[in-house]
Amino acid sequence: MIEGMSLADWCTRYPLIETLMALEETSWFNPAIAPTAEALADVGLTATDVDDASARLARFAPYIARVFPETRTAAGLIESPLVAAPRLQQALAERAGGPLPGALWLKLDSHLPIAGSIKARGGIHEVLKHAEDLALSHGLLQAGDDYAQLDGEAERALFGQHRIAVGSTGNLGLSIGIMSARLGFATTVHMSADARQWKKDLLRAHGVEVVEYAADYSVAVAEGRRRAEADPRCHFVDDEHSTSLFLGYAVAAERLKRQLDEAGVMVDAEHPLFVYLPCGVGGGPGGVAFGLKLAFGDAVHCLFAEPTHSPCMLLGVYTGRHDALSVQDFGIDNHTAADGLAVGRPSGFVGRAMQRLIDGYYTVSDEELFRLLALLEQHEGLRLEPSALAGVPGMARVLAERQGYRDRLGLSGTRLARATHLVWATGGSLVPDAEMDGYLARGRRLLQADAL
Ligand SMILES: *Cc1c(COP(=O)(O)O)cnc(C)c1O
Repeated sequence: MIEGMSLADWCTRYPLIETLMALEETSWFNPAIAPTAEALADVGLTATDVDDASARLARFAPYIARVFPETRTAAGLIESPLVAAPRLQQALAERAGGPLPGALWLKLDSHLPIAGSIKARGGIHEVLKHAEDLALSHGLLQAGDDYAQLDGEAERALFGQHRIAVGSTGNLGLSIGIMSARLGFATTVHMSADARQWKKDLLRAHGVEVVEYAADYSVAVAEGRRRAEADPRCHFVDDEHSTSLFLGYAVAAERLKRQLDEAGVMVDAEHPLFVYLPCGVGGGPGGVAFGLKLAFGDAVHCLFAEPTHSPCMLLGVYTGRHDALSVQDFGIDNHTAADGLAVGRPSGFVGRAMQRLIDGYYTVSDEELFRLLALLEQHEGLRLEPSALAGVPGMARVLAERQGYRDRLGLSGTRLARATHLVWATGGSLVPDAEMDGYLARGRRLLQADAL
């Protein structure tokens, strides 16, 4: 029995579960999506909350510029480039066996400063918020101060009496660990078995305590949370429930809007924007999608991408049971080379908050992630980690869709020809060369085998 129902009954009621259990790639377009104006209320957060997070990041910009010199050209804002990917689009069209109308773009969170992944948005925002709250309540900071002064001895001494802890498959740990250690916090990262050795090594080099688990992400989080609860001076960053993380991610949208404007890319009902977001527990893609819906309303169409071995958000939203179910309940192993997405149970908060705002969900095999990794390097000269490739198949999936989704939303003809398809490339610039060479070799081997 799984949550009170036999496996046979689950499969009868929810036929897609058999496809998920067979680890076959699949796409599911959400029949319950609703007009943005109506569904945004589900989230329980507002544009004002996102503006607050954005203003906080602006207040901290002088501090960030001071302690992370690589952010100085952007005046301490942690932001990533937006680039067109016409050569990759051409290569994908050849593989799809027909034209892919519209224009393919990449949002390179892989190249975000400090943490080299999308986690530099939410993770760093939550650490900064905690530091700000502490400094204000201890009288070390007043409204209107230059936050660069937080890089002072008294401030570091205060933060040193406090601990920040987090459970992670790797990248969240990196962003939280690097940021909080730099501020002076004692920091503990609880790492799941999927976490890459180099990520643990890098954190330890920053003075972060790394606790390793033989089990998956959910266990690392539960144990981290349990230990943190016993320590009143420990702030646990709760990836599954945190609104501070979620809002840090959401700030990306207003900045993307500016970048699209500068690039001359129109977004409106006649020029739809499709955005493909790799999904682990859901906070990153959920927060970004929330911001996108606030910024672009019904003109933006967000889709989440997961590995075939870890389709937790698809399972949760499709069945409406959210975090009551894990992929392991159905014998799906949650073993994937996409370590950033190796999550077996989704965030119930994100699944419920966003269930009428996300157009669709699809899965990608590990082999395909490696092929796309090699293909992107070959055609655009960009190197990403496996998780970050999950958005790439989205454009072809939407254009090949036959479930009535595009018809239902009037997404056809000239609208499709004028559409922008944006792949959120979520990580990779910190991957060591030797590790990246291994990824590329694996991808190239798979592509060569296909060509035979
Ligand atoms: C964490 C991560 C994601 C997904 O974010 P979630 O908040 O876990 O859904 C996607 N890509 C990369 C590279 C990540 O590290």
